[in-house]
Amino acid sequence: MAQPVVGGEIERLIQLLAKLPGLGPRSARRAALHLIKKREALMQPLGKALADAAAAVSVCTICGNVDSKNPCTICVDPRRDASILVVVEDVGDLWALERAAATRGRYHVLGGVLSPLDGIGPGDLNLASLVVRVRAGGIAEVVLAMNATVEGQTTAHYITDQLAGCGAKVTRLAHGVPVGGELDYLDDGTLTAAMKSRTPF
Ligand SMILES: [Zn+2]
Repeated sequence: MAQPVVGGEIERLIQLLAKLPGLGPRSARRAALHLIKKREALMQPLGKALADAAAAVSVCTICGNVDSKNPCTICVDPRRDASILVVVEDVGDLWALERAAATRGRYHVLGGVLSPLDGIGPGDLNLASLVVRVRAGGIAEVVLAMNATVEGQTTAHYITDQLAGCGAKVTRLAHGVPVGGELDYLDDGTLTAAMKSRTPF
């Protein structure tokens, strides 16, 4: 067994960094060493930013988004189109759509997908508040922006049933050929989905 080469504080830092997605033990050691070398310029501001964010973070009671204020920045932004509600599985999906500036609508974050095998049912997700929100009126279209996975599509079907007769049009993202994609490289499922959801030219 190799003897530790660093003291407890640094070892603890490396262990915590290694828990971040995309960082294994090796890259965690490199990140820790980088922080140590940039102690004043990076390590101390990062420590303060982490503490500040941890203290400020809250879940929006309207949409389920995570922000440093509640209601969140998007829910209180008057420039947003309140008639379009985009339903996403997770905050990461909301961020992806915002990066792409794909919609000017507002969001509803489910916090996961239905997955009976993992014991995740409707009560575990931010679903009841979605139905209440849509039934309250003022929403013309609900866009189901779920992942193109079995669980994502099962969840989309469930939501469609729950929103039946609520007065809003329910749509979903198109499935098919990615921008810049070549047909020869697509898997059978994607090609079949693209053929099914073809649109007028
Ligand atoms: Zn919100």
